[in-house]
Amino acid sequence: MSLHEFSLIDRFFAPLMGGDRIWLLDDGAVLPSSLTPGLTSGLTPDLTTGPDQQTVIATDTLIAGVHFRGRDPADRIAKKALRTNLSDLAAMGATPFGYLLNLSLPADITESWLASFSSGLAQDQKRFKVKLLGGDTTKVNGPLVITITVLGTVPAKMALARRKAQPGDRLYVSSTLGDSAVGLQVLEENFKAVPQDLKSHFIDRYQLPQPRLSLGQKLRGCAHAAIDISDGFLADLEHICKASDLSAWVQLSALPVSSFLQELLDCGNDQRKNQLLNLILNGGDDYELIFTAPPSESDHIAFLSQSLNLPITLVGHLGGYDSDEDKNRIHLLNEHNQSIGLHFKGYEHTW
Ligand code: ADP
Ligand code: MG
Repeated sequence: MSLHEFSLIDRFFAPLMGGDRIWLLDDGAVLPSSLTPGLTSGLTPDLTTGPDQQTVIATDTLIAGVHFRGRDPADRIAKKALRTNLSDLAAMGATPFGYLLNLSLPADITESWLASFSSGLAQDQKRFKVKLLGGDTTKVNGPLVITITVLGTVPAKMALARRKAQPGDRLYVSSTLGDSAVGLQVLEENFKAVPQDLKSHFIDRYQLPQPRLSLGQKLRGCAHAAIDISDGFLADLEHICKASDLSAWVQLSALPVSSFLQELLDCGNDQRKNQLLNLILNGGDDYELIFTAPPSESDHIAFLSQSLNLPITLVGHLGGYDSDEDKNRIHLLNEHNQSIGLHFKGYEHTW
């Protein structure tokens, strides 16, 4: 059997969505407003949304050994599980209010691990103003599995989507790329030469992603399309291209990296530089936002960047394509605006 994650979903599960399968193209699903008040009041009487609001739902599973390292601190595992889910709400422009927690716990789980996991969640509940609404707990003869489902609200018809990019849109990315993927390499001791004082920066970026909720909310009515980076910059940009049926042109030298990663690039040999470039483009786990907006919004985006104190970098643009070969393709450009044939691939589960 050879099945790829997205073709598998397309073949076996997309048909089950009936007429609403457009949501499969996005980071979360937006409920029709008519369903919203009943559902939210049933779960949390103090959290109701009016008819001018819609509920947004997203869910993600994290498996020990696949999405996080089982021996990492439990409070950080908890925070990462919640934050990666909140990042999907950020990509939808939603404001979170609660979450469901499904835990499949292995036999050797300890009380102190659970206390630390729960205190990590408590801290992030405060930080992101969300409450636990329910869940399920099971014992598993295998690795720890955490599934979180987040719920949020968005003003009616204002949710961001992957499929609404327009030809001529500018392409932006928040903060910097690649630090998280370097952090994983540092933890796995594949990058032994990284100076000690840089190590904790990269590890924090891997273990404690920052969901860009404020940015996502401020992009409502300004951005045409958005997605968060979980699988890698190129892989997630490709989702915008496919969903919007456009191609993208990306200036390689414009891709934002932290001063810490720049330091590694500056002192690395060619092999290390290529490795780092691969992590920037495909490492994933960045949980930054990629978004597109018309040129008329560029001043507003500069203002948002300043007011949120968050770097937002123009990295390219989107447009139509002339041939099947160029359909929904990402063109990486060098400083002479020439396409460079890099064929890296982002993370995809396969069977
Ligand atoms: P993300 O990386 O943003 O969490 P995914 O790549 O996991 O998004 O999923 C892409 C889309 O496919 C989402 O809209 C998600 O809801 C949908 N999806 C993934 N797996 C399934 C499934 N088993 N059944 C239905 N929809 C699915
Ligand atoms: Mg996502």
